Amino acid sequence: TAAPESQPFQAEVAELLNLMVHSVYSETDIFLRELISNASDACDKLRYEAISAPELITDGAPPVIRIVPDKKAGTLSVVDTGIGMDRQELIDNLGTIARSGTKSFLSRLTEAKDGAGLIGQFGVGFYAAFMVAERIVVTSRRAGSDQVFVWSSSGGSGFEIAPGSEDDAGRIPRGTEIVLHLKEDAKKYLETHEIERIVRAYSDNIQFPIELVPEEGEPRQINSASALWQRPKSELTPEDYKQAYQQIAGAFDEPAMTLHYRAEGRQSYAVLLFAPSAKPFDLFDQARKGKVRLYVRRVFIADDADLLPAYLRFIRGVIDSEDLPLNISREMLQNNPQLAQIRKAVTSRVVSELEALGDKEPEAFAKIWDAFGAVIKEGIWEDFERRDKVLALSRFTTTKGEKRSLKQYAEDIKPNQTEIYYLTGDSVERLKSNPKLESAAARGIEVLLLTDPVDAFWTSAPTDFGGKPLKSLSQGDIDFSLIPLLEDKADDKGADGADAATTVALIKDALGERVSEVRASQRLTSSASCLVAGGDGRDRQLERLLAMQNK
Ligand code: ADP
Ligand code: MG
Repeated sequence: TAAPESQPFQAEVAELLNLMVHSVYSETDIFLRELISNASDACDKLRYEAISAPELITDGAPPVIRIVPDKKAGTLSVVDTGIGMDRQELIDNLGTIARSGTKSFLSRLTEAKDGAGLIGQFGVGFYAAFMVAERIVVTSRRAGSDQVFVWSSSGGSGFEIAPGSEDDAGRIPRGTEIVLHLKEDAKKYLETHEIERIVRAYSDNIQFPIELVPEEGEPRQINSASALWQRPKSELTPEDYKQAYQQIAGAFDEPAMTLHYRAEGRQSYAVLLFAPSAKPFDLFDQARKGKVRLYVRRVFIADDADLLPAYLRFIRGVIDSEDLPLNISREMLQNNPQLAQIRKAVTSRVVSELEALGDKEPEAFAKIWDAFGAVIKEGIWEDFERRDKVLALSRFTTTKGEKRSLKQYAEDIKPNQTEIYYLTGDSVERLKSNPKLESAAARGIEVLLLTDPVDAFWTSAPTDFGGKPLKSLSQGDIDFSLIPLLEDKADDKGADGADAATTVALIKDALGERVSEVRASQRLTSSASCLVAGGDGRDRQLERLLAMQNK
């Protein structure tokens, strides 16, 4: 056999490994979860490829994941009969960082004082194994290939790649064997009870059987290996759901919302969706792509099928269809009418569940809103069909408090008030001292204080809620004359008509061309003047945003 060839890691990998090896992170258990999740993905990919190339699995080896401790050798192996990797895939997948967002994760990891905490929060995939192993040997055979390749590394700056021996080829009919030469302080992972504990805690719901192959005795399956979303709700505990969420999303937080149901009728499908309670580090990195996984009769098909609109891209989970053809191609996914129906129905369901959660469990909802509110609000702009519902579930900071819904706003609305008022700006603090609020405050009128960049966009289209248009206090005419002043302001003197006309003329003279109009205003009670856009003028915040982009 040919001599092994040395290759350097991509700089980011070397950096990540360095962090792994020297990590003081104590929850090293997660390495096994990451390896099992990769093995499960590999079995999913094989099943998918075998739909159009059945010969790939005709050798009969069913998809399975085996965990093999060897105390004498001090090694723990994770073996799968999945898709496997050829030489180039080994080099690409285990030598570079393919995951979107990992780069930004790394820069945060190096910045953060508590880098270890971040590792625990997000997981770092395959490389997590270097927390417990001083050397890793990966032997793999791509499905359908007669060649086996061996990748090995002790961390550091690079890895070696070589063709496998005859012995390797005999041992591995298909798939991947990952052998971890455990560090001295990680030898506990050779104990079968440790392995079982971790698998039960993190990987019980992996769909494929996970077998523990003890040094003595028979191999035995240690997970339940069922597609959790196919099981009846009544059988499942919150702990089951939490584990399923963490496993499907590769997350470490608790789900803030769990939605599990089965649709029957013209189409049958199972839905298991979660809203995270914490923001993933790559939320704003991605090309606004969702990650909900599409299955067809329990076979994984794709995780980029846009099963939900972009403003719900933070939702994670699975949709498993009974009716779609198994051999549905990528192109078909784009414009399949059945899938479009599922998408529509599930989107409506998610939006109304979020709305209901906001009413029934405000604390859980607040977590979702804090993490993803700015994303959800894109829906006010984008989802014309559900705009009212998205508005109804939105929460705002207003002059009356935080996390106010428009329903609450409507309940507290002043007599004769026919519009919902807002101001856009950079920070709530600065908005609060904006003179444009004075007159509203004098009348006890609530004003939404909008500070997310997305607010400038959705407010630029005419929007109303419950028949009341939303109106910017920095745009055009505001008529508060029918809304009474609060009692303690009632004796404030309004501008005298004649006085106002003279003053306006004087100011107009002084400013000349620089303003299009000068008017006496009801907006102000103690400030002398403020700048506003014309009635159909663009909002000043949007103007600034656009100016920034045109730079
Ligand atoms: P991720 O799973 O998020 O892509 P990982 O670091 O866990 O990131 O894995 C990197 C890549 O290595 C995977 O995307 C996959 O292509 C490949 N890989 C890892 N383990 C296996 C395996 N057991 N079988 C096949 N491919 C694997
Ligand atoms: Mg992985």
